[in-house]
Amino acid sequence: MLVTANSQIEFQKAQEVIPGGVNSPVRSFSSVGGNPPFMDYGDGGYIVDIDDNKYIDYVQSWGPLILGHNDLEVQKDVIEAVKKSLSFGAPTINETLLVDEILSTYDFLDKIRLVNSGTEAVMSAIRLARGYTKKDNIIKFEGCYHGHSDSLLVQAGSGLATFGAPSSPGVPADLTKHTLLATYNDIDSVEQCFKNGDIACVIIEPIAGNMGLVPADIKFLQDLRSICDKNNALLIFDEVMSGFRASMGGACEITKVVPDIVTFGKVIGGGMPIGAFGASSKIIDELSPVGAIYQAGTLSGNPISTIAGLSTLKKLKKLNPFKELEIKAIKLTDGFKQIANKYGVDIQTTVRGSMFGFFFSKEKVNNFKEACKNNQELFSKFHRAMLERNVYLACSSFETGFISVATSDNLIDDTLDAIEDSFKNIL
Ligand code: PMP
Repeated sequence: MLVTANSQIEFQKAQEVIPGGVNSPVRSFSSVGGNPPFMDYGDGGYIVDIDDNKYIDYVQSWGPLILGHNDLEVQKDVIEAVKKSLSFGAPTINETLLVDEILSTYDFLDKIRLVNSGTEAVMSAIRLARGYTKKDNIIKFEGCYHGHSDSLLVQAGSGLATFGAPSSPGVPADLTKHTLLATYNDIDSVEQCFKNGDIACVIIEPIAGNMGLVPADIKFLQDLRSICDKNNALLIFDEVMSGFRASMGGACEITKVVPDIVTFGKVIGGGMPIGAFGASSKIIDELSPVGAIYQAGTLSGNPISTIAGLSTLKKLKKLNPFKELEIKAIKLTDGFKQIANKYGVDIQTTVRGSMFGFFFSKEKVNNFKEACKNNQELFSKFHRAMLERNVYLACSSFETGFISVATSDNLIDDTLDAIEDSFKNIL
């Protein structure tokens, strides 16, 4: 049995002063049961909690830590920056260098603005698209997550392809009525949306990581490109998760489909809070102070996030680890599949670069409805069993797993042993 006495005490204390004891709901373990361990430190491919339990980490701060915890080069660069100042609220050279680094990979973009989170990046990108096209309605896909801004917290209203309803109290229906919901990988549903409203933009996770890992078909993305062009709507790729994760150039590189706006987050901040969005000069120069579309941020481009991201991207470029990360991810998912087959468990697995996903399902998953067919009860038991065996997986079946440069073959072998032992115990 995992001893987590200190975490239990701290979780009690946290719940008294922080809603649910967590500063982001997914950390609460509410979908798998039990309480979350409190973390103390990271060590390459491991994290260690305050009861000294050491876990193999496949969450990696929900994606940012592609180099693993405590990469020494990133650490050194961040410490040097900290000595100079935590923030100026004035331009610094590294902001330009970080943006240059992103642009050298996403070379169809002309300019980028840095913000503080993925939510902010997407919210600002939507405002830019609406301001640029002078239209209000947007299309998003069921099961894609784009942060917690009002326009994007939407669920199907009377049906998909119609104007959405708020998915959270506190979001006015007056705002979500401008968001139409379509079905992932289903171009007919998108066409229906275009018939139902004058559309400013279509936003998509081209490799969805928030309904489990569900990549869009390339043909579907190509069709989205054409339908946007036909209707003078902008196409936004939300690569907050997949950018510098699925491959160096994310889904754009893999699919060769060129969107109008790309949003970034996670890896580009190397573990510090950051977001960014980029477009052609023609579009993005509509932002203030050049244009009239307002967007701002006191700590945007702050020196610490900026250097953590710059250092991470430079090292990624030097290492170019994506082939190797994908081979490791496939070793993990292939091994997982073999064990599942041995125990008669239905499983679907997917890999894109350093991202991996699994569903306990009979059939391949192409959209949110199909993702919901995952055997949730088995997932919860499996998650708990893996935690007990010192493997830290995302605590929801609607998340994605991540391999880092520090995830060695030995760690993957240990994980496969833990999977086998878990099945032995829970089935
Ligand atoms: N877009 C995508 C695709 C994401 O995965 C996330 C976060 N998981 C966001 C936007 C929001 O980013 P943040 O949590 O940094 O606000």
